[in-house]
Amino acid sequence: MMKDELIKYMKDCSTEDEFCFKFLCSSCGTWWYSKPIPFSQAGSRVSDENKKVIYDALYRRGWINARNAVLDDAINHFSICPICHGLICDRCFLICNEIEMCKNCAERLHESGKPVIAETAVSLIF
Ligand SMILES: [Zn+2]
Ligand SMILES: [Zn+2]
Repeated sequence: MMKDELIKYMKDCSTEDEFCFKFLCSSCGTWWYSKPIPFSQAGSRVSDENKKVIYDALYRRGWINARNAVLDDAINHFSICPICHGLICDRCFLICNEIEMCKNCAERLHESGKPVIAETAVSLIF
């Protein structure tokens, strides 16, 4: 469910040799990059047409596997704000009294809360 939402915000920055994805926090505007996952066939690009079909299929399979792994990881770093429906990083996502929401919405609605991740803990995680 949450993954379906995340996929919409996911940007592909994969190259021919590795898979990488990024997400933008709509509150602070910071990009979060996944750890690049190397493509198993990296460096073995082929010119033979038949082999190329297989290479492309392997790339596609690797890409899908990498995307799923990154989504599993991104769930631990992002939330969807129930008020503005933006993608929000844990530094900008606040646990308020009744409901959690992003910093921007909390400010607008005069709510207060604690971020999911305190600023001081961030450097250890990113
Ligand atoms: Zn943020
Ligand atoms: Zn919001």
